[in-house]
Amino acid sequence: MSEYFDAIVVGAGPAGNAAAYTLAKGGLSVLQIERGETPGSKNVQGAILYSDALERIIPDFREDAPLERPILEQRLWVLDDASYIGSTYRSEEFKKGPPNRYTIIRAEFDRWFSSKVQEAGALVICETTVTQLLRDPAGKVVGVRTDRTDGDIHADVVVLADGVNSLLAQRAGFHGELQPKDVALAVKEVLFLSPQVIEDRFNVGEDEGVVIEMMGKITQGMIGTGFLYTNRESLTIGVGCMVSSFKEGGIPPYQLLEDMKNHPAIRPLLRDSEAKEYAAHLIPEGGYKSVPQLYGDGWVMVGDAAGLVNAVHREGSNLAMTSGRLAAETIIELKSESCPMDARYLTEYKRRLDGSFVMADLKKYKDVPDTLHARPQLFTTYPELMSRAAMHMLHVDGTDKKSKQRQIFREFREQRGLLGAASDAYKMWRALR
Ligand code: FAD
Repeated sequence: MSEYFDAIVVGAGPAGNAAAYTLAKGGLSVLQIERGETPGSKNVQGAILYSDALERIIPDFREDAPLERPILEQRLWVLDDASYIGSTYRSEEFKKGPPNRYTIIRAEFDRWFSSKVQEAGALVICETTVTQLLRDPAGKVVGVRTDRTDGDIHADVVVLADGVNSLLAQRAGFHGELQPKDVALAVKEVLFLSPQVIEDRFNVGEDEGVVIEMMGKITQGMIGTGFLYTNRESLTIGVGCMVSSFKEGGIPPYQLLEDMKNHPAIRPLLRDSEAKEYAAHLIPEGGYKSVPQLYGDGWVMVGDAAGLVNAVHREGSNLAMTSGRLAAETIIELKSESCPMDARYLTEYKRRLDGSFVMADLKKYKDVPDTLHARPQLFTTYPELMSRAAMHMLHVDGTDKKSKQRQIFREFREQRGLLGAASDAYKMWRALR
């Protein structure tokens, strides 16, 4: 292949598809390269789709996108070994107007998004891996090398949307190796269950879904969280922990997921379901402090490749789509003004990203990763204490409530000490405020 393109997009996940679609709609000649057999075949997500980010790219996406269930109810569970303490938010307000969040199956969603990219005019080639960025003598990126014969292709600009760890960027020296403390390993399973059983079991209607986010002893002392989502005719269950925790903890990820599935609060929800698929994937969770350089001469980086994940709210695909769109809009504008695709102009992409919710949210939570790493007790001691406190208050045994309160207070003091508990609360408040 010896053609020249305005832009080459590497990767056909949400970030790459958002970029390729926007670029092609903007009238640029676009080549998108995906190593998977089909777009989405290599991709893993929970998955919740946040409509807003997609709506800004394809406003009428609801007409034909493969959506599972709009989310009506959000639960948050803090689990110890035998119990959970939780909160639920459910509102009929969610049904007013177009839904804001849906569960999706990523393989189907990515295939659909890619069909839109192709309709918009981009050339999409799959089963092709970009092995290297091509550079001119001055170091500017001028194209890509692929694993096809005669696989060098040139373009004005390359959009790196190749996902977590972007090996291409690493090889090109744009960022270093991902550190175990900055990346989570998540495993998930899709379990087949009839729609009727899902609706009865989760107390929802035909076109309604539930999200359960979980933390506590299900991660067995490691820093991480779990989740359970309802799809149309399946459930997705998963758990992810920092790679540094897996290294220290010694529990294999699949074992962690098996143990979680057997928790007494979770097992009944999965009863009689049939395993459909199992997948594992990395998530860049280092946050604001681990975001690398995002642009340079002839290149921009978007989505997971750029570490744009808000782990506190489990948002990734929306940050990926937004960064892909903003990068593409910048490129279109530069092109229309005949500016070269150099760092001094592409810095506009970073300026736009800084002005969006993407960097604002990452900045807000910039201290969360360090705070969690320094406080593993948040995942063990506190879930146990909270559960015991609830048990004390709910167990009616002739002890007066004042004495029960004193007992709860004593247990908190013994486990963490007054200063320890106050410091944990203060540090968490500071990290999340
Ligand atoms: P990816 O989706 O990883 O896409 C990168 C693409 O690049 C892939 O298709 C890959 O095959 C291709 N590629 C890589 N290298 C090359 C190469 N050299 N040549 C050609 N192609 C290449 N986010 C949410 O918003 N909601 C959720 O509920 C949610 N849950 C999650 C649950 C799990 C278990 C995981 C792992 C992640 C979850 N995320 C969630 C995060 C979300 O999946 C990511 O943030 C999102 O997929 C990032 O999109 P991306 O396009 O940047 O990267």
